[in-house]
Amino acid sequence: VLSMTGVRKVFGTTVVLDDLSLSVSEHEVVVLIGASGSGKSTLLRCVNLLETVDDGVIRLDGEDITDPRVNVDRVRRRIGIVFQSFNLFPHLSVLDNVTLAPRLVHSRARASAEEHARAMLDRVGLADKASSYPDRLSGGQQQRVAIVRALMNEPRLLLLDEITSALDPELVGEVLALVGELRGQGVTMVIATHEMSFARQVADRVCFLDGGRILESGPPAELLDAPRDPRTRQFLRRIA
Ligand code: ATP
Ligand code: MG
Repeated sequence: VLSMTGVRKVFGTTVVLDDLSLSVSEHEVVVLIGASGSGKSTLLRCVNLLETVDDGVIRLDGEDITDPRVNVDRVRRRIGIVFQSFNLFPHLSVLDNVTLAPRLVHSRARASAEEHARAMLDRVGLADKASSYPDRLSGGQQQRVAIVRALMNEPRLLLLDEITSALDPELVGEVLALVGELRGQGVTMVIATHEMSFARQVADRVCFLDGGRILESGPPAELLDAPRDPRTRQFLRRIA
């Protein structure tokens, strides 16, 4: 689904992604771990074309999306992204938050978008919240709405950036459970997280980022329990 080859991203004099390569196959769940500032968010933002790369190629289903002639909206339609802060529109109901993009960007009819949205909300246990406004919802509920919104176009790839970091600890579980369900449904995902227990549960492959490179990657049982690289070991010891 996704392939990144030799990707380089520089902010001023800081090299944030350094000759980074990563491939993600269909139905695969890849989890990015690494210290703060190691480039996890920047990697996700480059894939979603929120940042332009300085070198290298990113392909989505074989299409070079780093080509300057690419249609950015068309690419973003095929990629869902959810951030740490839920970014729901406060003045719109849950239903309108979820159906806004399909209606405006994809010019889908309101009735059809709403029917789909209600079915999705029902699946994540939020059917009764469709007409509520975001400030009436818990953080965990807001984040689940944000995930539903990202899934509305049936994206080829879902990017999740620290989606539980802003949540109270007792609300983290419901959001992670939803991600686990999506995994079961075969949604291809790239996830940045600081939560190693989540990485262990959900990842097919964990990548350790250090200084803008993937220093080591492997199945969670290997990378988290028997890391080979001394820097990976040091990182895992520090956060344990
Ligand atoms: P965290 O775990 O804290 O979320 P991260 O791994 O997601 O960290 P990034 O947010 O990708 O790290 O940041 C990587 C580096 O790029 C940092 O040094 C950061 O200061 C820098 N950076 C990110 N965005 C910008 C920007 N728009 N302008 C300048 N520097 C930036
Ligand atoms: Mg980040």
